[in-house]
Amino acid sequence: MRRRRCLASLVVGAAWGAPAVRVGATTLPQALAVPGGVAIVELAAASTPRPSARFGGLPVLVVARDGAWVAVVGIALAADAAQPQALAVQGTDGKSREVAFSLQGKQYAEQRLTVAPKHVELSAKDLARHERERVHLAAVLRRFSARTPQTLRLVTPTSGPRSSSFGLRRVFNGQSRNPHSGMDIAAPTGTPVLCAAAGEVIDSGDYFFNGNTVIVDHGQGFLTLYCHLSAIDASRGVMLEAGATIGKVGATGRATGAHLHFSVYLNAQSVDPALFLPAA
Ligand SMILES: [Zn+2]
Repeated sequence: MRRRRCLASLVVGAAWGAPAVRVGATTLPQALAVPGGVAIVELAAASTPRPSARFGGLPVLVVARDGAWVAVVGIALAADAAQPQALAVQGTDGKSREVAFSLQGKQYAEQRLTVAPKHVELSAKDLARHERERVHLAAVLRRFSARTPQTLRLVTPTSGPRSSSFGLRRVFNGQSRNPHSGMDIAAPTGTPVLCAAAGEVIDSGDYFFNGNTVIVDHGQGFLTLYCHLSAIDASRGVMLEAGATIGKVGATGRATGAHLHFSVYLNAQSVDPALFLPAA
């Protein structure tokens, strides 16, 4: 029997001013304020009402930790670590202020490949499909729901050897592509894929590059994405517990072999899943 349960009636979105859900330090991801990492920035004492914060115009996750409200901020892989960073913080009194923080640099590996053009150049039809899907997925990944995640520590979505290729910069035939936005976990086709934390399935579909894909919203812009599935076992709108089966490992979309591509998003930025997972 699957461990999926419908929790829709039990999960109530926390409106501004609602009693705060307090979380302990152990439930936060490992902080690593680098491009592709997570900055944990203290905003105010937790005895004050919960503030809201935005980074680069997008709302960010705010939780209580050790007596303080902290923002858990996803840093874009493309961020310039030399530049000072600032959150726009708004208290319930409506007053805005800036909270500055800084980044450290991180150099990700680069992979240069020369392949036959047919492998990297899309037909007009495929290009049009990819463009539609890109726009759709970008909108889904900007989702910011009011529910507060109970934990930001994730369950391993499938067991197998993990690549450490998050952030890998790929250059095909001299042209830069998007850096690798997730962790690849090698596992045989059909291996169960588990939901990494409790949340709502907000998207599923068969996409040109990602193949069969499921996206789960854990609350406040904290999302996980599972790609190349051979089977999807989770419908849009369903609430899942951590560890519920959402599908099976496969090689659908543009994949060279069976594996799970697993991504974690905070404020619409893909961040290193290793910061959220137990050690392999
Ligand atoms: Zn991947």
